[in-house]
Amino acid sequence: MNAAFFKEHGGADKIIYGDYRDPAPTADEVVVRVRACALNHVDMLLLDGRFPPPEGLPHVNGCEVAGTIESVGASVKALQPGRRVVIFPGFSCGTCEYCQRGARTVCTRYGYLGAHRDGGYAELVRAPASNIVLLSDAISFEAGAAVPLAMLTSWHALVVQAAVRPAQTVLVQAAGSGVGSAAIQIARLCGARVITTVGSDDKIEFARSLGAEHVVNYRTQDFVEETKRWTNKRGVDVVIEHIGGDTFERSVYALTRLGTLVTIGSHDTHWGRLDLRHVYSKNLKVVGTNLGSIQELQAILEHLVDGRLTPVIDRTFPLRDARSAVQHVLSRKNRGKVLLVP
Ligand SMILES: [Zn+2]
Repeated sequence: MNAAFFKEHGGADKIIYGDYRDPAPTADEVVVRVRACALNHVDMLLLDGRFPPPEGLPHVNGCEVAGTIESVGASVKALQPGRRVVIFPGFSCGTCEYCQRGARTVCTRYGYLGAHRDGGYAELVRAPASNIVLLSDAISFEAGAAVPLAMLTSWHALVVQAAVRPAQTVLVQAAGSGVGSAAIQIARLCGARVITTVGSDDKIEFARSLGAEHVVNYRTQDFVEETKRWTNKRGVDVVIEHIGGDTFERSVYALTRLGTLVTIGSHDTHWGRLDLRHVYSKNLKVVGTNLGSIQELQAILEHLVDGRLTPVIDRTFPLRDARSAVQHVLSRKNRGKVLLVP
């Protein structure tokens, strides 16, 4: 098959499009013909070596995949070739303490499609049958591929970890990102009011169109001051944070008493300081989250069918132009998801 893979770490120029080993599924796995695969920030970490692929090189990136079942392993009875599907991107062992507690995303042997094994920058990809979710005819492959990581993580952060309620206020960092554009919509779906940040004025209207009531250009305005002004000095109930560093530290100052900050990524840096006085004196919660459950992914897909959620797709590139797609994401010019289509 053809794939866009890399044999050494570096920038977009290290991505090679060409012939690659065919996926070899086990008895309880399926092979999916990729119809769309979304790019994510983690792809860039895998590529440049900050998060080297655990199975070594060469490696195929791509955690968010929609496609059709190409073939099924001998033990797989419930799925047939041709079915439209998305792949739930998290793998768990099912037997460790955390899996038994129902918290599969913190499995001690957790792995991601496209990280711990080859992913969807390819014509074909293999996955456990238990990770397959059927995709309605009403949802395009492109929309389906824009959901399993970014939108699911935002959903879990807001709905489960922060338990957002109607009329609460939410600060969403970086409206232009896949996570940010999803979080704004989900917070609105929960009945919350949203303030968000953008890095350039040309993204302000875009952020408003997603449902944000107030949009702050963080390059020219202080988002903490703007948040305080917008909430009459009170601060917001919830912050969705995925940048790290100074943004993480100052996001805590934007919270009201009893507020919750959910950290779901570290786009700029893995480090962030906390002024602990704010945390204990205001009884704040700072919680982490990664991904969500298969049931939550199915719930999101139902909202897509009904049109209550719409993944924001910036641009689609042919798989053979994966290098340009990665360059586009690295340049931070995208508004929403960037996709590859074989
Ligand atoms: Zn486990």
